[in-house]
Amino acid sequence: MAEFAFELNDDQKQVREWLHGFAADVIRPAAAEWDEREETPWPVIQEAARIGVYSLDFYAQQFFDPTGLGIPMTMEELFWGDAGIALSIVGTGLAAVGVLANGTDEQIGTWIPQMYGDTDEVKVAAFCSSEPDAGSDVGAMRTRAVYDQATDEWVLNGTKTWATNGGIANVHVVVAVVDPGLGTKGHASFIVPPATPGLSQGQKFRKHGIRASHTAEVVLEDVRIPGHCLLGGKEKLDERLARARERAKEAGGERVKNAAMATFEASRPAVGAMAVGTARAAYEVALDYAMTRSQFGRPIIDNQGIAFQLADMRTRIDASRLLVWRASWMAATGKPFTSAEGSMSKLYASETAKQVTAQAVQILGGNGFTREYPVERMHRDAAIYTIFEGTSEIQRLVIARTLSGMPIR
Ligand SMILES: Cc1cc2nc3c(=O)[nH]c(=O)nc-3n(C[C@H](O)[C@H](O)[C@H](O)COP(=O)(O)OP(=O)(O)OC[C@H]3O[C@@H](n4cnc5c(N)ncnc54)[C@H](O)[C@@H]3O)c2cc1C
Repeated sequence: MAEFAFELNDDQKQVREWLHGFAADVIRPAAAEWDEREETPWPVIQEAARIGVYSLDFYAQQFFDPTGLGIPMTMEELFWGDAGIALSIVGTGLAAVGVLANGTDEQIGTWIPQMYGDTDEVKVAAFCSSEPDAGSDVGAMRTRAVYDQATDEWVLNGTKTWATNGGIANVHVVVAVVDPGLGTKGHASFIVPPATPGLSQGQKFRKHGIRASHTAEVVLEDVRIPGHCLLGGKEKLDERLARARERAKEAGGERVKNAAMATFEASRPAVGAMAVGTARAAYEVALDYAMTRSQFGRPIIDNQGIAFQLADMRTRIDASRLLVWRASWMAATGKPFTSAEGSMSKLYASETAKQVTAQAVQILGGNGFTREYPVERMHRDAAIYTIFEGTSEIQRLVIARTLSGMPIR
């Protein structure tokens, strides 16, 4: 019998309730403080580790949920609590996914536990791809990885930027160029183990939003790592490079470059879910405020101008969640993203978060503009969603190219 449902199953509902409790009782009350401090909220991460929200087991369970809804549900609840703190909690998971997706079983077993540490000594991990001159244009990456056959080591040189947890991570996953002639197909990912000489933190950025999340440059100077730190192993890399060289010869470089734009389709809905969490949080504050704040002798929601905004806000949030769930379900069930559904979900949810949080500030009037209420922070936080993991412009590019098959620029 065919099954179709728009709701979470009972197990998922239980997990969501548990996450919501943690977001409401632990994350939300700490949000303003860590936003002001602009520091990694270690005590909150430790508490998350103590109860099991910050752990490899929990993240893997959600990641491998056959319905695909485990990760978006987790992201929405944690980011509902606070985006900066939530990113400090899930940032490690984003790096771990790089290893889960490309690593051998041995690499997964060795490195992912070291990314999380344990409840006595909690650790974080970083995923370092972006560079000062290679943000949207990943093909412009310059960080080089050169193999030293004599010692069976890789030598990494370059500068990474905007890395979440960069420099404070126990384990860094670094993307580097191994064959400059192949565009993004000539890239490979490496584990930089804890305390490896040559890796240092550069500038730590002071940010507009998600200020509890650490964002920094990572400088790599003659960083020597053992051969076994190449994710997937050398044999697989050599095969992949040989295939890419063949294809480049047949089809020309342009196609090799364009193919890479689709690789993030499966991870983008997770960012869309973060945006849904922030948007929902701001909407709830605005709805409550509109029902309790009186002007001209009646609650401000009595005015259609306010009520209709709230109706639109909620409609956009629900539409965003549906797009996110669809794309997550497609990824989990192996459906091809023939219309760039992953990018669609990230584009719509992130633009919604920006719009809804701005409307929430307006509905709260003077209070919305102060730090006495959380919506100004949520509005600052929401700005990140249209930037990282591919800007809105890049999502539109991916969607338009997928729909048309044309090399739109
Ligand atoms: C808080 C934060 C955390 C981050 N965390 C990480 C991380 O953990 N790891 C990591 O590797 N990176 C991370 N990033 C980097 C992030 O992914 C990049 O900032 C993002 O990809 C955009 O790159 P860019 O900043 O260089 O912008 P640019 O690529 O320089 O873009 C600038 C503007 O031009 C537009 N643009 C560019 N190309 C086109 C085009 N072809 N058509 C139309 N418009 C275009 C963009 O949309 C944007 O509006 C993080 C960034 C921030 C701010």
